[in-house]
Order: sequence, then C-alpha cells, then structure tokens
Amino acid sequence: MKKFIFACNFKMNNVSIEEYKRVMGEDDYSNVILCPNFCQLYQYAELKKNGVFLGAQNVSEYNNGAYTGETSADMLKNAGVDFCIVGHSERKKYNFETLSQTNLKIKKLIEFGITPIVCVGEELCNNETMSQTEYAKRYVLVELKEILQDIDISKVIVAYEPIWAIGTGKVAGIEHIKEVIDAIKKYAEVEFVLYGGSFGESNFEQIAAIDCVDGALIGGASLKPELICKMKKKLEEK
Ligand code: PEP
Repeated sequence: MKKFIFACNFKMNNVSIEEYKRVMGEDDYSNVILCPNFCQLYQYAELKKNGVFLGAQNVSEYNNGAYTGETSADMLKNAGVDFCIVGHSERKKYNFETLSQTNLKIKKLIEFGITPIVCVGEELCNNETMSQTEYAKRYVLVELKEILQDIDISKVIVAYEPIWAIGTGKVAGIEHIKEVIDAIKKYAEVEFVLYGGSFGESNFEQIAAIDCVDGALIGGASLKPELICKMKKKLEEK
C-alpha cells in the first residue's frame, strides 16, 4: 500500500511531546507531519530524528515589520518548519482570512522553501436542486482558482476539508470524497491531496483505501499520539 500521509493539526492545544516520543520510540515516522502551536515548534523539532516533518498552523503574508502577533515564513524556516497549513476554515471564520491573503501566504511559504498545505472545503449545501457532492466540487474549484493564482502547483499539497465534517464527527461519504478529490486533481494536477474532517479510528481504513486520497489532515485525533501511531502502523501492515 502507498505511504499514507498523516498531517496532524494540534490547533491551540498543548500535546505532550513526551507522549509522542514514547509511542514513536525509534521507529520511522517519515509520513507524519506534526503541526503544534508556535510555542512548541522547537520542542517538536526533536522528533525529526524519527523522520517526522514539522508543520506550522499559520504564517504571515509579510516578510517583517509592524504586524503584531504575526510570524514570517523566514522565522518558520529558521525554526525547522517544513510544512505550513494555510487557509484553514477556522482562520477564515475567526480571523476573517480571505482567499487573496491565503494566496499571498502560499507565495511566501514557497519563497522560503516551506510546503503549503492548502485547505479548501464547502459548507452544507442549502440548494435543494444540487447534491452536496456537486456543490462541493463547484465550491472547491472556485476556491482553488483564486488561491492558486500564479502559483507553482507542484509545490503545494491540497487538503480537502468539508467544513461540516470538521470536528463534528460527521465524515463525508466515500463516494463524495472520491469525486471531490478526483475533481481537484483533474483541475489542479497536484501530486498530493489530503482529506480532513473527523478522520479517526472508526473510518481511517476506508478513507485510506480510496485511491486518490494521499493522506489526512487530522485535528481531534491528533491529540492522541497513541491513536496516530496505531493508525499509521495498521495501514502499513496492509
Ligand atoms: C481540521 O481541523 O482540520 C480537522 C480535520 O479537524 P477534525 O479532524 O477534528 O475534524
């Protein structure tokens, strides 16, 4: 089976590095990206010895200057960051982040050699004449058109995250995920597309078995190091 990517977004939670160290032991975790809060980045860099990649959850679209509370791509690079999540629906909702801002952030990350994990995804469709899947395909392609403007697509990873599935326990159906991710790959020709939204113990095997899904962007389940390691090992046994 292909190596399935586990991109773990801890959000604003302190996840014990000691626990991750304990469960990883000496094993290889080179298909795992851990995205802790900014304050824990330096600690988590220690897990690179297991092959783990370090991810950030946000970046500024500027290089430096009077932007209180922001962190530049250059600073992230110096902290050992390899990947960075951009355009997450929570940043759109709580920080009013726009698609054109996300586009600028992606450009900055690429400039500094960090791979952007670009999030797209739709709300629930309230148009009775259109299926959720059809709505999702149209929605994400419109988002991608703006977000990926003037960007070298080969340098990004896309995460398809239906907003209604994030943190809700509602997982998108297998056919839905397949159709939307196929449409993304056809449109953008990106190499890796992840699925995100209530990914966890009860559904990881079915989702990982979908041909076009290259990995998962994981919120809630990533707070449990033991579960991440268990899912990773289980998929590798196949
Ligand atoms: C997310 O926030 O990107 C996410 C997928 O969260 P959860 O796995 O908790 O749904």
